[in-house]
Amino acid sequence: MDEQAFRAEVRAALSERLKPRASDAAFSFLGAGQDDLEAGRSLLATLADGGWAVPTWPAQWGGRDATPEQAGIIAQEMSRFEVPDLYPFMVGVSLVGPTLLTHGSDEQKARWLPAIASGAEIWCQLFSEPDAGSDLAALACRAVPDGDVWRVTGQKVWSSRAHYSKWGLLLARTDADVPKHAGITAFALDMSAPGVEVRPLRQMNGDVHFNEVFMSDAVVHDADRIGDVGSGWGVAITTLMHERGALGPGGGPGRDELISLVRATGAADDGVVRDRAARVISELMVGRLTNLRARGAMQAGRAPGPEGSGAKLRGAGAIKALADLALDVEGLGGLVGEDEWLTLFLTAPSISIRGGTDEIQRNILGERVLGLPPEPRVDKSVPFKEVPRSAPS
Ligand SMILES: Cc1cc2nc3c(=O)[nH]c(=O)nc-3n(C[C@H](O)[C@H](O)[C@H](O)COP(=O)(O)OP(=O)(O)OC[C@H]3O[C@@H](n4cnc5c(N)ncnc54)[C@H](O)[C@@H]3O)c2cc1C
Repeated sequence: MDEQAFRAEVRAALSERLKPRASDAAFSFLGAGQDDLEAGRSLLATLADGGWAVPTWPAQWGGRDATPEQAGIIAQEMSRFEVPDLYPFMVGVSLVGPTLLTHGSDEQKARWLPAIASGAEIWCQLFSEPDAGSDLAALACRAVPDGDVWRVTGQKVWSSRAHYSKWGLLLARTDADVPKHAGITAFALDMSAPGVEVRPLRQMNGDVHFNEVFMSDAVVHDADRIGDVGSGWGVAITTLMHERGALGPGGGPGRDELISLVRATGAADDGVVRDRAARVISELMVGRLTNLRARGAMQAGRAPGPEGSGAKLRGAGAIKALADLALDVEGLGGLVGEDEWLTLFLTAPSISIRGGTDEIQRNILGERVLGLPPEPRVDKSVPFKEVPRSAPS
């Protein structure tokens, strides 16, 4: 089928399911400033019939076997319709789903993927710890085998949406006798299991969307182990590569919203504003195209490359520039009351941290693209238990 015929077919199928998007529709970005789970859940449930939310997944697991090019067309057509902010479901749909497709068993795919695609089950990402953020492989949360279960003890932090997640993609240390990258295993943790405690943290934009998660002897069945024992670092890399792609300037406000704001405030007459707007719009566009390229390459089965780091880095800069410009244009009025641009302004700096900081993305680009000498990594080959660590508080 040629592109035009496919596009027409997609548009017809989506119009049967969704309402057209109003030109003055409010926007949100990465779920900031809102807690509405039901709108997203109902949208995903509507799209589940036909696999529209996760088109490149195999049809047997809730997708529709689409090619990356077809998925691009579906995403473009979707933007014509009213679609709530799906951020609460993003860890499942954009990170855990693709990770399970690569590393999960068929039994796990059948058990988890359709429930992710339909929005029935929300997942969180239990990676970062107080002493393991940028140096994620230094994580210390441990899982000890006990018959056909594992007993998990430790702490995670910054766990987005853990407070209403059914499952957590957990990285735990299963062997401290080998170097840090080799002793990690990935699991699915049932967030309602005894021994799992979730404590919310407040962000500077006012949201209470991420948490500390404490595990005290929490039981995980071996059937919920993802990949082989000791292969968790490979699982983590797959997840992080997908996260970098997903955190680029994919959703949220863009050209149309900025142009409407600039026109509505009369700032379009100011040549400097027009110049800044053109620059921001170009940067957002370049970020989106790089994202599509990175995602397309991954969906076509190629190993994820450093383009995800480049896209995330540029996306973070573009979104901050967009929010700065919007607030400058709004003036003092933007600082009072509930203002979606103000929420964006207070959320934008987090893009430079979550999913790996700007400095870490630059390190990746320096080493893998520019061929600069690698950072000294003195603990890389040392058994984890011999690496000096700060005393637990
Ligand atoms: C909004 C938000 C949501 C998040 N959600 C999740 C989640 O759902 N699940 C999860 O597991 N984590 C989550 N995170 C955590 C995030 O991945 C970490 O914050 C991030 O990886 C940085 O780790 P850190 O905070 O421990 O900072 P650190 O690693 O302590 O870094 C501190 C500073 O040192 C710099 N630095 C560190 N190492 C180097 C180096 N080698 N070279 C140069 N500079 C360096 C960093 O760039 C940073 O500026 C979230 C974070 C935010 C802000």
